[in-house]
Amino acid sequence: MQQIYDLVIIGGGPGGIGAAVEAKVLGLKHIMMIEKGDNHSQTIRKFYKDNKRVDKNYKGQEIELQGSIDFRDGTKESTLNYFDSLLDRGEIDSAFNAEVESIVKEDGEFRIVTTKAGYRAKHVIVAIGTMGKPNKPDYTLPLSLKERINFNLDKCSQNEKLLIVGGGNSAVEYAIELSKTNNVTLNYRRDTFSRLNEINLELIQEYNGQEKLRLRLGMDIVSIENENGLVKVNFSDGYYTIYDRVIYAIGGTTPVDFLRKCGITLDNDGKPEFDENFETKTKGLYLAGDIAVKSGGSIAIALNHAYHIVSHILKSN
Ligand SMILES: Cc1cc2nc3c(=O)[nH]c(=O)nc-3n(C[C@H](O)[C@H](O)[C@H](O)COP(=O)(O)OP(=O)(O)OC[C@H]3O[C@@H](n4cnc5c(N)ncnc54)[C@H](O)[C@@H]3O)c2cc1C
Repeated sequence: MQQIYDLVIIGGGPGGIGAAVEAKVLGLKHIMMIEKGDNHSQTIRKFYKDNKRVDKNYKGQEIELQGSIDFRDGTKESTLNYFDSLLDRGEIDSAFNAEVESIVKEDGEFRIVTTKAGYRAKHVIVAIGTMGKPNKPDYTLPLSLKERINFNLDKCSQNEKLLIVGGGNSAVEYAIELSKTNNVTLNYRRDTFSRLNEINLELIQEYNGQEKLRLRLGMDIVSIENENGLVKVNFSDGYYTIYDRVIYAIGGTTPVDFLRKCGITLDNDGKPEFDENFETKTKGLYLAGDIAVKSGGSIAIALNHAYHIVSHILKSN
């Protein structure tokens, strides 16, 4: 008979890894972590630039870690290495390249269907983040510019004329780093940055106006056109500029279709509903990490969710 796991975790980012490690430490026996990418932490791998500084108190949110994971300030690489070591030490069972398609509760247990196999579980934690579906602007992006309009840094090279769009820490960090090897403009629709941590605020002021980085604040983009294979950006002041590449860093979206398919109810803002223990209306089905915050998640917040949920599962057993 197919094994019934005590806990199946969907998503191998900080929330999922945190849940797997805490579950092991606190004594759950049969645990499975399912990740759609070919390795854990796809958001960190795909959206953090190389050598990016990783702050524990991200965006100035002071978080005291509650569980057994000793996550600290570091870099993209040291954070991934630390998570590797946690998974190795915990001997966590995991399935990679397996995207979860649905979760159904039947006869008191969960059936989890992935693109590869099916699993049965007593409890499920959904920790799929929001970056699987990066936010896109309202205006149309010409399909012919698909290679030149990006939502992460995968396609960036050097000596390009780049426009970065966004006003959060990610956009600013992209702009600063890319300006070392490219000619960069950072466009934000507001006049000032209000969501930056102190370091990024200082850095952007220091870099702004230097040869390779300039700011275009208080300005919207009204449309994008293909101009001889390059990206023509029409701004709300009536002017346009042609760029080699445009990178949007404007956050991610809650994957509502997936959540609905799993029977998770949504509130009027389209955010998933759960109680103070992160349990949804389906008993035994929990949400952790970015998917369970209204805005502004972080690694430390995801780790604390994971610890809280596993403690709750053990208490209610
Ligand atoms: C550019 C950038 C910089 C940031 N810098 C910092 C920082 O310095 N410090 C900090 O604390 N936070 C930072 N953050 C925020 C932090 O990365 C997130 O808060 C954190 O990764 C959330 O963890 P999570 O586990 O909820 O989701 P994620 O990290 O998004 O992980 C979700 C995982 O689930 C997988 N998945 C999705 N759907 C499925 C499915 N259907 N089936 C199976 N697997 C699935 C994904 O592939 C992914 O690996 C940054 C975010 C960005 C975008």
